[in-house]
Amino acid sequence: MSFMATLHYSSFYICSALLCISCLFYTLFQGRVARRQNQVYILIVLNMLFCALSSIVVAFCEGRYTPEAHFIADMGRFISYVFHAALTPMFGYYVLLVCGNAWHLSRRSLVLYAIPFLFTEIVILMNPLTDWVYYYDNTFQYCRNWGAYTIYISAFFYVLVGLFNLLRYWRALTEAKRNALVFFITLVAVGILIQITWRPIQIELFTDALAALGLMLSIEDEDNRIDMATGTYNRRALAFDLRNFFATGQTFQVIGVRITDMTSMHRVMGAAAADAFLRSVADYLRVILPPYSIYYANVSTYIILLYGDNEAQAAEAAMRILERFERTWTGDKLEIRLHASVTRGVLPKNFQSAEDVMFMADSPIPISTGNKVLSGRDLSYLLRRLDIERALHRALEGRTFEVYYQPVYELRTLQIKSAEALLRLRDQVLGNVPPAEFIPAAERAGIIETLGDFVLEQVCEFIASGVPDELGLDEIGVNLSMLQCTQPGFADRVKGIVDSYGVDPSKINFEITESVSASDYNALDTVIRTLKAEGFTFSMDDYGTGYSNMQSVFSLDFDRVKIDKGILWSAEKNSIGRAILDNSVRMIREMHRKIIVEGVETEEQIRLLSHLNVDYLQGFYFSKPIPKDEFVTLARSQHKTAHPKVLREASS
Ligand code: C2E
Ligand code: CA
Ligand code: CA
Repeated sequence: MSFMATLHYSSFYICSALLCISCLFYTLFQGRVARRQNQVYILIVLNMLFCALSSIVVAFCEGRYTPEAHFIADMGRFISYVFHAALTPMFGYYVLLVCGNAWHLSRRSLVLYAIPFLFTEIVILMNPLTDWVYYYDNTFQYCRNWGAYTIYISAFFYVLVGLFNLLRYWRALTEAKRNALVFFITLVAVGILIQITWRPIQIELFTDALAALGLMLSIEDEDNRIDMATGTYNRRALAFDLRNFFATGQTFQVIGVRITDMTSMHRVMGAAAADAFLRSVADYLRVILPPYSIYYANVSTYIILLYGDNEAQAAEAAMRILERFERTWTGDKLEIRLHASVTRGVLPKNFQSAEDVMFMADSPIPISTGNKVLSGRDLSYLLRRLDIERALHRALEGRTFEVYYQPVYELRTLQIKSAEALLRLRDQVLGNVPPAEFIPAAERAGIIETLGDFVLEQVCEFIASGVPDELGLDEIGVNLSMLQCTQPGFADRVKGIVDSYGVDPSKINFEITESVSASDYNALDTVIRTLKAEGFTFSMDDYGTGYSNMQSVFSLDFDRVKIDKGILWSAEKNSIGRAILDNSVRMIREMHRKIIVEGVETEEQIRLLSHLNVDYLQGFYFSKPIPKDEFVTLARSQHKTAHPKVLREASS
């Protein structure tokens, strides 16, 4: 063959080589080398390059009839077979990696996976002695033998494995990745088919190289996964990978690094300066952890996902990160200390879904974490709170909150004189969530005002219906959280709601807990004054549970004081408790406030309280908090109900 004819003959190989070189350069240039997937990709391309180059050499030497050319052609064939047989197994493995499944392949399944490949390689390696795969006849013509077909069969096997995995982990892939993989697997298969059936067209390697180019552009391209500022993976990538990991059921170690001063730094220094610190944290994380495990989840949080069940290793990494925050970080010329809270959990043991992890990344961690990595029990506590926040949002959307009423009895007349509105949350997932859990959660999540409005609206609606008046109720008690009533504009908000229902403010009594901190005191004083001027009344709730400065608490203008159930219960138990109750009652009386005692559960307690001559009683002895309709029925029937003997004694 002439030089030009040979060139023509090997043009598919030359194109393949050019494609491979382009892919290699671009991949290395983009720095896509860190992940196992990247490395396998590079190996595939290198492999194809060797095949292409050796095939070109073969094409040029086979046309010459010298012993040297003969020898080189033979060697070239041999080398290209050795490499080529490894191509589809590598490609199949690559598909596994992209599907995120190769992580949990056991050694045994890897060996099984490699068997067809090893078999063909042995057949090829034996060729110099056996001519099983190919040989040159006496006219120095290249001839294929049966061994060549084992290579194609093995190639088909790996293409099928690739397709199988693709279908199996279909859910774990983005649509773009699915389409790309389907297209390129088909392309490779078509190349093999043409090559078997129509030998003169040396197209197989070329379709492989095309597929590699396509993979580089579609799958290896991670630009839309990278966060520009930090160079780590972005939030989208995190959400996506998490879903992928959950779909494939793999075990991952999750570390959360929250830089707690990030939001204030953004405000004070500006985004550029704050980003410089973020970057230096990312740089540090990249030094101690694989770069592809780091995700920038939100303004102040990195999430690290480490494959496998090596919890000890993750714990050590988490501790190291936390300790690093004891030293300073360098931003743009500036060196400061940052504060961080570090959390650690195992996926899927501690997290039920990708959303759980995202939720943890986004939720504030108000508890002081000190020098401790939050994990295990801390985390389940944290996650319970996340669950509750989620239930709160569900309830807000579905309007499934309900207001219950617990009657309050006047000791003197034994009539229901008022009721306390208590919020109830029944969630479809968590069941009944007690207010002690969801009220603080609502405060953290910044939705306590919405809840407060809801309760107040329900209560106003009830009063506006005229039923409470008809029942002879003086008022309805509404609990207020400190956080809620010290918000700016709180008084106006309340007035707005009450006015819109046309309700007389004197029918509403607000209950505020005794444990008022000094900083809240002034704000609270203003709120109470403003609303009392409108006609609302106030009760000091939970008297006896806080350690407030009694003098300042009593200078707040409360109308009534509600003695906490704890005080009543301990009064029954010992003489010190009894003395505290007696003194509390006396002191409140001297302050000219009405006294309510909550938590009344037994006749014994009623007897005790009637001796002390308190004003109102509330407790399970009379009724638990009940839905509005039940409460109305109870209050309507009260006149007919014969009171227990003890009550008759007490009232006479
Ligand atoms: P609280 O204001 O001290 O409410 C009294 C709590 O004691 C209620 O619990 C009530 O069910 C319970 N209780 C009443 N009598 C007895 C009794 O005889 N024995 C026992 N063992 N318990 C009794 P609940 O409903 O779980 O509420 C807990 C706390 O949640 C309330 O304490 C209040 O601080 C808060 N809360 C409830 N609803 C609201 C609301 O609408 N807004 C705000 N800000 N807080 C609320
Ligand atoms: Ca209360
Ligand atoms: Ca209480």
